[in-house]
Amino acid sequence: MFHNHDSILVQEYASLGAPYLAEVPATPLRTEAGLVHLNKTLTNEIGLNAEQLASSPGIDFLSGNAPFPDYKSRASVYCGHQFGVFVPQLGDGRALLVAEVRKGKQYRQLQLKGAGPTPYSRHADGRAVLRSSIREYLASEAMHALGIPTTRALSLTASADPVFRETTETAAVVCRVSESFMRFGHVEFFCYTNQLDALRNLLTWHIEQHHPEIDLGETEASFHKGLLQWLGVVIERTAKMVAQWQAVGFCHGVMNTDNMSLLGLTIDYGPYGFIDGFDIDHICNHSDHQGRYSYRNQPRIAHWNLYALAQALSPLIPDSKETLQNLLDGFADAFHAEHSALFAQKLGLAKTQGDAVDGLIETTLKFMHEHTLDFTRFFRSLSALDPQISAAENFALWQRSDFFPLALGNEQQVTNAHAWLAQWLAMSNKASENAEEWRTRLDHINPAFVLRNHLLQHAIEQAQKGEFSEVNRLFTALSDPYNAAQLPAEYTAQPPDWAKSLVLSCSS
Ligand code: AMP
Ligand code: MG
Repeated sequence: MFHNHDSILVQEYASLGAPYLAEVPATPLRTEAGLVHLNKTLTNEIGLNAEQLASSPGIDFLSGNAPFPDYKSRASVYCGHQFGVFVPQLGDGRALLVAEVRKGKQYRQLQLKGAGPTPYSRHADGRAVLRSSIREYLASEAMHALGIPTTRALSLTASADPVFRETTETAAVVCRVSESFMRFGHVEFFCYTNQLDALRNLLTWHIEQHHPEIDLGETEASFHKGLLQWLGVVIERTAKMVAQWQAVGFCHGVMNTDNMSLLGLTIDYGPYGFIDGFDIDHICNHSDHQGRYSYRNQPRIAHWNLYALAQALSPLIPDSKETLQNLLDGFADAFHAEHSALFAQKLGLAKTQGDAVDGLIETTLKFMHEHTLDFTRFFRSLSALDPQISAAENFALWQRSDFFPLALGNEQQVTNAHAWLAQWLAMSNKASENAEEWRTRLDHINPAFVLRNHLLQHAIEQAQKGEFSEVNRLFTALSDPYNAAQLPAEYTAQPPDWAKSLVLSCSS
């Protein structure tokens, strides 16, 4: 009943059943749920009907008060390494698979997050608070609009049901959408519980479903070959995803192996953050005392997580130690190539690879770090420059940019900026098409706006008082983050001083 005529409900993942999935109904909220936001574009994209989803039966479904017709909801089991420590049993503790929709070749799963406890809730309440649900809802779509692989968010519903965290908050439910929500932790679980046949079947299903280009064949040898090929794809996608995070100043915050997607998608938005003033060692999660998941460490940790994945696969591929090691060694090159290319584009350089390019990227990040320059505004301001003229002339141009990131009163900053400009000019795209095209291209690479914590915080405080207009406004802005002229001035401005004192923890 929630479909358009071009889509159908399927049970492709659900039909795997035990030992992967447990049938669990959602637990209805006690007080009436309201629809805070429906992502109409995504609704249409996956073949669902926005009007019906926004109706009373639709809101019942999206808030976990009623099932999707003809579908039994399910929770999956996984485990993982949390902050480097193995935790033998995790799982969808507050996420439920509530539908699978096929529209031609496109296959999507729908999950409700916060719709009640499951066998994997480990004494927690299975709920999500409005605060963290707003954060997940908006971040998923912000990342998507920035072209970064991510799970998506379809709807946000909220009720007055109390939920106890550090203080009493209220309940909300996000409906998320993805081709798959499988994590490295799914592989780890079936390896470390010694269910190797189950692991093999799960991976066979996953690879056939999501990687039709990989042929697992009929023999042991072809299965091993296919599995290694698949691991190579996961390594490549993960490397690219983390490079993309680095290029927008995004910190995930909780890069545990249970929060790493097998499809290389950004998943599980908790205490994430887009960096304001650049600090290469920025830690966005207050609970991360050692800075394990700092900006600088994200690539290293992704690599570490891939080791954990490879380790869990190894019982299925005998005598593969050397091959696995070679594949894992490929991470560095994959990350480096993507990282260099992305930053070279952000800087508007003529070349995208090479020692000189890497040198300038390093110098740029050092300069930004030394003066805590605003990450987003710094890169956005570059389109005000002109590769054809001198450093001094460029400095004058730069100062007139709405995004000028420097404090003119700071002499050291100004001196270093001149030195940086000279180095940039030596590498910049002098033979660029024409100045206007070059600028337009840069403004389509460097967003004018990212979902900064203080903007989220403001929207959350309003929402907690029952006023959702700021959530709506942010949603509209984040779907077109490159178009400065259309964005509210405070979204593109230098963040206020109080933004520095915002603290985010795992509590959600
Ligand atoms: P996270 O750090 O949010 O990725 O969560 C780690 C694990 O704890 C996952 O298995 C979650 O499903 C589970 N979890 C987190 N919060 C809750 C909650 N309120 N109720 C039940 N399970 C939860
Ligand atoms: Mg998680």
